[in-house]
Amino acid sequence: MKNLQALKNNKPELNVSSVASLKFCEQSFYLQTVMGLKLTSKEMVNGLQKHEELLQKHLEKAELELTIEQALQKAIVEKQVLSVRELPLKAVFNNYLLKGRIDEVLITPEKVFIIDDKPKSKVFDSHKAQLYGYALLFKKALNPAQHIFIALRDWNSQTIYWEQAFKQEHALIVENLAMRALQILNGSKPLPTSNANHCKNCVFKTICKHRKA
Ligand code: SF4
Repeated sequence: MKNLQALKNNKPELNVSSVASLKFCEQSFYLQTVMGLKLTSKEMVNGLQKHEELLQKHLEKAELELTIEQALQKAIVEKQVLSVRELPLKAVFNNYLLKGRIDEVLITPEKVFIIDDKPKSKVFDSHKAQLYGYALLFKKALNPAQHIFIALRDWNSQTIYWEQAFKQEHALIVENLAMRALQILNGSKPLPTSNANHCKNCVFKTICKHRKA
């Protein structure tokens, strides 16, 4: 119930990945964020291992230690391409504080690519919402001079399999999801998904009374 307490005391903290999970199922957001249930699946453990591997590879090749602000500036001034891995960010919005950790940010003089590493699959709305959330967070926290793009990258081959320019309409999607998250934190009833495939892949499927399959 950590977030309910935060709501009473201060602005509630919302995590980008939790907000994006509303696109998957409001009930799973409720179980995780309001009830504080933490279950771990085999896929989640594999994902953590894969991200640790990618971080170690990145650190082996890294030559510079810069803040993200310095990296954004250096890319422009020295016309360089730089990449930053596992970037934690926080930004304050009107009614909430948004936070998240971006897998990788690739910075060129003209563009910033916010990259999420995943096993290559269909591009789900929750994946897009997660990247829209990171891009909004990045823009709000750092307001870079470069244009922001978002991308999904296959964590095995390290090839980009989906990308988009970040637009205002994407920011609105995140803001609407964040408002819905606040409503649920304030007691609005969460709606379980109607998509049985979501239930098949859900970490809460063994305990959820609304499960469709
Ligand atoms: S089992 Fe289905 S309804 Fe229940 S939380 Fe998971 S996705 Fe939602």
